[in-house]
Amino acid sequence: MAEREADLTKTYDAVIVGSGAAGGMAAHVLTAHGLQVLLLEAGKKLPIEQELRSMEWPYDNAHRGFLPPQSHSLSFNEYTIRNPPYGPGFEKSEHLHSYVGSSDYVKNIVVNERENPFTGTNYAWVRARCLGGKTNIWGRLALRLSDYDFKAKSRDGYGDDWPINYNDIAPYYDKVDLYLGITGVRENLPYLPDSIFQRPTKLNCAEVTLKQGIQKMGRVLTQYRAGVTSEGLKHNKYRSRCYGRGACERKGGCDIHAAFDSPTGLIYPAMDTGNLTLRTNAVVREITVDPQTGKASGVHFIDSQTMKDYSVRAKVVVLAASTLESARLLLLSKSRLYPNGLANSSGHVGHNFCEHVMGPGVAGRAKDLVGKPPTLDDGRPGGFYLTRFRNLAEKHPKFIRGYGFEGGSGSTLFPRGTDVHGFGASFKEEVRRNQGAFVGMGAFGEVLSRYENYVDLDPAVKDKWGVPSLRFHYKFQDNEHRMAEDMKETAQEMFEAAGFEIVHVSSRVLTEGWSIHELGTARMGTEPKTSVLNQFEQSHDVKNLFVVDGSAFVSASCQNPTWTIMALCWRSCDYLADEFQKGNL
Ligand SMILES: Cc1cc2nc3c(=O)[nH]c(=O)nc-3n(C[C@H](O)[C@H](O)[C@H](O)COP(=O)(O)OP(=O)(O)OC[C@H]3O[C@@H](n4cnc5c(N)ncnc54)[C@H](O)[C@@H]3O)c2cc1C
Ligand code: SF4
Repeated sequence: MAEREADLTKTYDAVIVGSGAAGGMAAHVLTAHGLQVLLLEAGKKLPIEQELRSMEWPYDNAHRGFLPPQSHSLSFNEYTIRNPPYGPGFEKSEHLHSYVGSSDYVKNIVVNERENPFTGTNYAWVRARCLGGKTNIWGRLALRLSDYDFKAKSRDGYGDDWPINYNDIAPYYDKVDLYLGITGVRENLPYLPDSIFQRPTKLNCAEVTLKQGIQKMGRVLTQYRAGVTSEGLKHNKYRSRCYGRGACERKGGCDIHAAFDSPTGLIYPAMDTGNLTLRTNAVVREITVDPQTGKASGVHFIDSQTMKDYSVRAKVVVLAASTLESARLLLLSKSRLYPNGLANSSGHVGHNFCEHVMGPGVAGRAKDLVGKPPTLDDGRPGGFYLTRFRNLAEKHPKFIRGYGFEGGSGSTLFPRGTDVHGFGASFKEEVRRNQGAFVGMGAFGEVLSRYENYVDLDPAVKDKWGVPSLRFHYKFQDNEHRMAEDMKETAQEMFEAAGFEIVHVSSRVLTEGWSIHELGTARMGTEPKTSVLNQFEQSHDVKNLFVVDGSAFVSASCQNPTWTIMALCWRSCDYLADEFQKGNL
């Protein structure tokens, strides 16, 4: 792969900020169109295979796979009783991580919260500052949205419709499927469109029992739709097909890159075109503006290691720093022309912030599997997805929108979810007898997009590089709490229908942010007074500025967002390249 030094004296066709799902996709599409692109990434380029070590046995790891003693990862209770930026009380922990950073394999991937503080309401903000961002460790559930989501307002009257419909984005979902690979099974559901799937994983015994148990209720359980290549990708030499190697269930990513990650899936192939220059350790702090034209002229960035400040010029600026970081950058880019921040004449930047609510779920036991010989259930990129069933044909009296469940069953490297107590040989024997019979699932539900849920800049707190931090003003409200109540009840009712013995029911709603699906802070729309971007994720105010990550979402839906982020980004970058070539930017 041809790596080249960034040339800060030249004007690039486009500068992309951030190298995760969105930035990687923008790099792929723009370089394929022949643009000369500079990709700036705040984090390091990690020797990622040495970090992830997917096949390492627990006994070969100094801490059995957990964090070293000088590190700490925040627990649910710590998020609720302590206030960000988590200063006092953690003096002994040199490195303080979000709840995701609890394993030795991700400790260098997720950020040190101390270096990256934020303030305001409680929020479990998971950030990965390294090449590839959060795609190095994402859960891979890759779902499409449908017109039930894009036209949700037309169905229930709340919020706003998206400025696109499913037919606009469907060809781009197809392109993402074929370029990156996805596994799953066709179900022909109007509210969860099928992808172009590669070979699916198999459901195991208890999962099939649940699928059959809920069929009579008109509910659908399908194989986990994983952003993983199970058959290989002839056009990509950096990724292997999934071997289901047996130790894959461990927290962390996939060191053979069968699971999509942005570097091997998008960035390295884009570098091979000769049109992409990558600079890591480049913390962008402002988008610069030409005072004559009002257009974006490039960015200022700080070298994260030397702390030196640099500028680079570009004809187009593409923000892909993730939903909250892109909003932060727009707010940071204040000037005489744009006193409220860039692209913010509507005052909507940072607002309409939405995501998914999580927590309620159920764990149980398929009694007929207790004592059966263990099966190999670890070697799959996921278990099952139980699709949305609320507010489709009928209207729920207590809440609008919907939720789905992610779950799994079977024998795993670390037996999970058993309610066995005791110690010694009899305890171990009981764990062994029960572990393959375990089945559990948890819900992800749509959080409504609301203007009053927002982020702005903290007037005092700054990060390690002196850049003002974000301040959260964000809370779940009644619709989410009523939905969570229903999640708990339906989870139980479905396990009962499948004949499972229920071991544990969780009604606890997890801290805001837990889903890691932040969305909506620079939403698309047809009306520049109430939206930030048009349907091609182009700023209404500044035509050579695009924001191609989850910021553009108009509503959250209940489906995981990454496949949609990438399909939208591909569509927007095709449009960008076309406009660029016509000289319209
Ligand atoms: C544990 C986990 C499980 C997940 N599971 C799923 C799942 O199953 N399905 C799903 O759809 N999604 C899942 N997600 C979410 C998914 O990872 C994100 O939706 C996706 O990565 C978003 O892509 P992005 O490019 O917007 O942001 P990111 O992937 O976060 O990339 C943003 C990049 O921008 C960089 N950056 C930020 N600020 C700056 C700056 N100022 N200057 C330069 N660079 C900057 C960051 O360092 C980062 O590399 C999961 C995430 C995690 C962490
Ligand atoms: S199951 Fe497949 S995708 Fe998952 S870590 Fe293992 S090889 Fe990678």
